[in-house]
Amino acid sequence: MATKIGISAPATGEQPVTLSNEEVLRYSRHLIMPEVGMDGQLKLKRAKILCVGTGGLGAPLGLYLAAAGVGRIGIVDFDVVDRTNLQRQILFSSGDVGRPKIEAAAQRLRGLNPDIQIDTFKTKLTSDNALDIFRDYDIIVDGTDNFPTRYLVNDASVLLKKPNVYGSIFRFEGQITVFGYPDGPCYRCLYPEPPPPGLVPSCAEGGVLGVLPGIVGAIQAAEALKLIIGKGEPLVGRLLLFDALGMRFRELKLRKNPDCPACGTHATITKLIDYAEFCGIRGEEAPMPQNNVPEITPRELKSRLDRGDDLFILDVREPHEYQICNLGGYLIPLGELSRRVNELDSSREVIAHCRSGKRSTEATVFLRNAGFRKVLNLKGGILAWSDEVDPSVPKY
Ligand SMILES: [Zn+2]
Repeated sequence: MATKIGISAPATGEQPVTLSNEEVLRYSRHLIMPEVGMDGQLKLKRAKILCVGTGGLGAPLGLYLAAAGVGRIGIVDFDVVDRTNLQRQILFSSGDVGRPKIEAAAQRLRGLNPDIQIDTFKTKLTSDNALDIFRDYDIIVDGTDNFPTRYLVNDASVLLKKPNVYGSIFRFEGQITVFGYPDGPCYRCLYPEPPPPGLVPSCAEGGVLGVLPGIVGAIQAAEALKLIIGKGEPLVGRLLLFDALGMRFRELKLRKNPDCPACGTHATITKLIDYAEFCGIRGEEAPMPQNNVPEITPRELKSRLDRGDDLFILDVREPHEYQICNLGGYLIPLGELSRRVNELDSSREVIAHCRSGKRSTEATVFLRNAGFRKVLNLKGGILAWSDEVDPSVPKY
């Protein structure tokens, strides 16, 4: 049995927290720094942090918070490990593909540090469960990737008066700040209204450099650790912008909005709302409404091509996507379609396609409005073609 050393000043009614000799050894590089020391390490051990999401940001967050000795870490996720996650979500290994993220993450974190408690919430965070899940924790760390959940995390943190360490990533750029700190701004002070649905692409649509969430998530972890030990200058009222291509950090001043509906003087948000409705979407993965856009299924297209029908295949993806895989179609990226429409013959039957069918739906609507009567959208795009017709076409 290890000897207990170091008695912290416990809050009234709490058990005194101590470190075992093994823990002293494990955290020795913290303990020898006066800014952390035994006092700071015991604060870490008593701390309770909730990580919302175990994806790209949640991976470095979970790993560094567990390694640093945060005594209780909650993780919330309902997703399953996908092969496309492995490019950046370093909590997972190839053998985890198909496994619930929460299980793979908990196993990895417990393996890293068996002295801490990992709470798992295998659920989608909703307005019904957020306050109950958040209530037990000191700090919330937002590792989500969609607007409804971001507003939900913000409002729940503000209602419960808990700091919300925020991070977001897209392609080569990241943003980090601390919301919900006493006298500091919240997410709604910065973005009172969500962007129109579909305007801001997700990482699944726009891509993300694999290391970017590592950098941003590690900064979030640093902020969370600083808040616990109470040292340094937290990222409150400052939005840190990171550009990996230029390898530059910039900082924007953020002010608390006295009229903010969540944290202002006369806040109107007194309970959680329907965030999907607020953001005008039915969730991140919800398909675009098809609005009666005429479609053709991959199987129908295959049989018509085999029959020798005269079909013009229009690919509205980007040239770098064409290089990954293609159906031999004529390439006009969606963004160039309006000025290159004269390259198309309106008397021929056009089959528009993209990766998933979303951009080509827009292209089909545009062409129909431009007078092309014989345009069909390839339902499910090249992904569905790979699933239903030709598995040798790679999915991305
Ligand atoms: Zn606010």
